[in-house]
Amino acid sequence: MVSLKIIDCCIYCGGASGDTTSSLEHIWPQSLGGSNCGHLFKTQQVCRKCNSNAGLWVDGAFFKSFFVSALATSSGMAYLDPASPIPVSSTFVGLDMEFPVQEREVCERWIGPSGETIYFIHQEDNPKWSGFAGGNIIDRQKIDTGRIYFQLVDRGSYRAMLGLISIIKQFSKPRIHCLTNIANLQEELDKQLISANDKTSVEINEIKWIKSRGINTEHKTRITTDVNFSIRFFAKLALGLGSNILQKEYVSSEYAKQLRTILWNLNSLEKESIVKGSSFFTTEPIEVTEIITYPSAWTIQISIINEALILTVGYPNGKIQSIQITNDTEYITTNIYSNYKDGKIYIIIPPRDIFIGPINTPDFISHRMKYKLISELSTIDQWRNDARNIPD
Ligand SMILES: [Zn+2]
Repeated sequence: MVSLKIIDCCIYCGGASGDTTSSLEHIWPQSLGGSNCGHLFKTQQVCRKCNSNAGLWVDGAFFKSFFVSALATSSGMAYLDPASPIPVSSTFVGLDMEFPVQEREVCERWIGPSGETIYFIHQEDNPKWSGFAGGNIIDRQKIDTGRIYFQLVDRGSYRAMLGLISIIKQFSKPRIHCLTNIANLQEELDKQLISANDKTSVEINEIKWIKSRGINTEHKTRITTDVNFSIRFFAKLALGLGSNILQKEYVSSEYAKQLRTILWNLNSLEKESIVKGSSFFTTEPIEVTEIITYPSAWTIQISIINEALILTVGYPNGKIQSIQITNDTEYITTNIYSNYKDGKIYIIIPPRDIFIGPINTPDFISHRMKYKLISELSTIDQWRNDARNIPD
């Protein structure tokens, strides 16, 4: 669907991009279940340029960082459906320094949901792409899509199929080589794989090398990761949700301008920034985090803390990170105050397409402490416990 609606002021750039074409922006990214989220997490007030840049450099960098990709895998594994496998994302490990790549190529190593070793070979990129799993995905889509190789872990059909469908879904662009023969593979899966007759001579040699390497040897990898992976993402969340919750003027406030600076210019992080928040690496007492996070899921809480409107994200591993949306009383009206004074929580479980909320924070805490259960959440608690019954 092509939308040609014109917007007067994009909330992410304030009009600086010169693009006035409106686009549908998922404030909470699609790779983390954003398509299932309610209206609060979507907006049309973002220009197409910002939408595509934010998807690539902000959402992409966040999702493809080592920390978040590892969390996405473990979160997916906790909510598997014992009846049939659903795709779970793989974890980025780093660059494989031993793989005999061609000139100006690199080999990334990923781990699939059932423990598959995945080799992703593609052209070497400009250093600005380092730390970004998948490298320069813009050029990759145009010219070189790369190639991937993996062997299925032979642990029966459920785990093998889980690995196969997950890897095919996540790595849809590269040429996919599955080095394990699977009997009677469904045609639609089979046609996604490169067949024996279509392999190039380089690919044949690489497959030989992988097979001779074995799977139990220690490999030298280099992890490149940007510790600032989450800050720009949080600035984007604060701007997007702030513009949906507060009155229109919020996006031209001084604080919103500062959020925009962080969103597009990391160098502005130092010194005089008025943006307040905590880091992924901040350690909060477990008594606090345990009751406002949800096991192996993402939570988003919006609440008034010390007279400011605060956004807190709960990671699937129980960590929390927050950012201030505003502390300006001009925007925190009586209405906003009474709506958010106790806090509202949303729960997102991407592989199961789950989005629940808003739940009042006190009710959520009651459920977490088992004082008073919320039936919708009890069902999900059950699914999570089911993960122990997943077939081999
Ligand atoms: Zn824009």
